[in-house]
Amino acid sequence: MRAAVAHKFKEPLKIEDVPTPEVGPHDVLVNIKACGVCHTDLHACHGDWPVKPTMPLIPGHEGVGVVTELGSQVTHLKKGSRVGIPFLYSACGYCDYCLEGNEVLCPDVVYGGYMVNGGYADYCLADARYVVEIPDGLSFIDAAPLFCAGVTTYKALKVSNTKPGDWVSIVGAGGLGHLAIQYARAMGLNVIAVDTGADVEKLCLDLGAEYFIDFMKEKPEEKIKKLISTGGVHAAICTAVSKAGFDSAYASTRRGGTMVLVGLPPDELPIPIFDTVLNGVTIVGSIVGTRKDLVECLEFGAQGKVKTNIEVRSLEEINQIFDQMEKNEITGRIVMDMT
Ligand code: NAD
Ligand code: ZN
Ligand code: ZN
Repeated sequence: MRAAVAHKFKEPLKIEDVPTPEVGPHDVLVNIKACGVCHTDLHACHGDWPVKPTMPLIPGHEGVGVVTELGSQVTHLKKGSRVGIPFLYSACGYCDYCLEGNEVLCPDVVYGGYMVNGGYADYCLADARYVVEIPDGLSFIDAAPLFCAGVTTYKALKVSNTKPGDWVSIVGAGGLGHLAIQYARAMGLNVIAVDTGADVEKLCLDLGAEYFIDFMKEKPEEKIKKLISTGGVHAAICTAVSKAGFDSAYASTRRGGTMVLVGLPPDELPIPIFDTVLNGVTIVGSIVGTRKDLVECLEFGAQGKVKTNIEVRSLEEINQIFDQMEKNEITGRIVMDMT
């Protein structure tokens, strides 16, 4: 099968012919039809994070397609089932977190396209217990980004301690952030989007953000306090791949507000103890979402309430796509058509 393979950190991926994986008892083999390109894939190929992926690696955790083979123990799917393979590739199933239905915190969690091979290939192995079916009426191309960017931002909003009518800032309106705007609107929240560039500004306003702040032109934390009368946002959702974005998101949170950390730049964020204590600020880390979150988030897509701004490209263009991503030149999400 054809696959894009990373052999060394920071080196271009190679398009190669590799053996098609064989299914184990709980696996399915998925013929990948589309795969979104997440900034996490770039972090993986650069070795940006404290926990490094093992090379060689086939990245990709927004891979969606059709089940073509089933392991001996798989009974709830069939050949032809339309599924996606999320970043939460598998978990143990019996620790405290798994029992609570919070498998994202399982200590034995396996990340797809990071610890095991992912969707930048014609076929991808998946643990049948952790794939999620794509609702009818949602195309492979439209479904792909919801398997990471969608579920991650939907979940981040769920843990943001907000209610309809509250103000949220979406700091970083890229692949994740432009979906966050839509989930926030669907939840009845008022949105301030923070990013840079005229194309991104237009997209954010078209998607229903009340305001857009260009962080290259203005200080978002100062502007926000002038724009709204609540003394800051009830919650700041930070998806920016930049420490400056996190600093600004923190500074724009109102007293009693919540900052949700989603983006994963390879930096530290020294939080001021005094301000956090006196202002009663809640800091929450949010990692992807559970299978249940994913089912819910896909339903918004199926109902047309959330739609990714997609540029369709091919697997062969992956190195170019990574270059564009590094330079912040993408508006929305790039999805590779694998057919
Ligand atoms: P992306 O490249 O599509 O978007 C990032 C955006 O941040 C860009 O539009 C960029 O212009 C913007 N940005 C950069 N500096 C900024 C600043 N100072 N203020 C505001 N915006 C700024 O990336 P993506 O695919 O949306 O991923 C974003 C981050 O989220 C990555 O670090 C990725 O690894 C991480 N991520 C986390 C989870 C999770 O579960 N927590 C899941 C998926 C991705
Ligand atoms: Zn991702
Ligand atoms: Zn577990």
